[in-house]
Amino acid sequence: MDIPEQFVIRERDHRIHDPFGPEKLARLGEVLGLAPGARIIDLASGSGEMLCTWARDHRIQGVGVDLSSSFTDSAIARSIELGVSDAVSFEHGEAVAYVDTYKGERYDVASCLGATWIGDGPLGTVDLLDMLLKPGGLVLVGEPFWRETPPSEEAARGAHATSIDDFATLPELVRSFGEHGWDVVQMVLADPDDWDHYAAAQWLSTRRWLDENPGHELWQEMRDELDHAAYQHVAFTRPLLGWGVFALMRR
Ligand code: SAH
Repeated sequence: MDIPEQFVIRERDHRIHDPFGPEKLARLGEVLGLAPGARIIDLASGSGEMLCTWARDHRIQGVGVDLSSSFTDSAIARSIELGVSDAVSFEHGEAVAYVDTYKGERYDVASCLGATWIGDGPLGTVDLLDMLLKPGGLVLVGEPFWRETPPSEEAARGAHATSIDDFATLPELVRSFGEHGWDVVQMVLADPDDWDHYAAAQWLSTRRWLDENPGHELWQEMRDELDHAAYQHVAFTRPLLGWGVFALMRR
């Protein structure tokens, strides 16, 4: 099992598959006050940038699980590049299946950044991560939210949602964590510049792929997507959608 190839075409050169630049990821690592040797499990770990840089900067130990074999290979290569391959490991696998069969030691931190569909939304994902967590541990959830409620369903779809109901506003999201029994104890939010960086890198990767792969079965689909990608970003995603990582501790 693997993710659709379109994701890999768009993001094959991304180190972070979310609207966070390296500075925001570093800031998140700093504000959590991670102790050396802290154990972190990262579900949907992508290309492993969070665990690899935090192993380098904070001496954490980590395990990443991701459904993309391509991104998992990149994560392993990155851990070797940064000299942290003894501290972090990456597995190709499905996150829910991983949790269902997990019998090992519990973690100090359990995270899922930008893939909360694994738990049918942010709160279900918190519950999933909780199953891997030590008492008193930290959950990290990376999730989009509406900066302002979209004026129409069409605008929501333009911002890559299936409907307005896909996401909450920031106050609704923060309140929902509290009502679910968790304190929000840290938060780092993306800004429009982070979105630009994430989205625009997809356009260049897609364009290069198109030039290199004439005749590929996905060529026309990716061509049609690129025709509208930059416009959709500036018209809908950039003004409407926010993104952030929320650190939670059980009340
Ligand atoms: N957390 C990473 C990646 C976010 S992108 C980062 O911030 O860079 C979303 C990731 O979810 C992709 O790497 C994709 O391969 C992965 N993914 C999607 N469905 C998954 C599933 N069911 N189990 C595990 N990983 C999944």
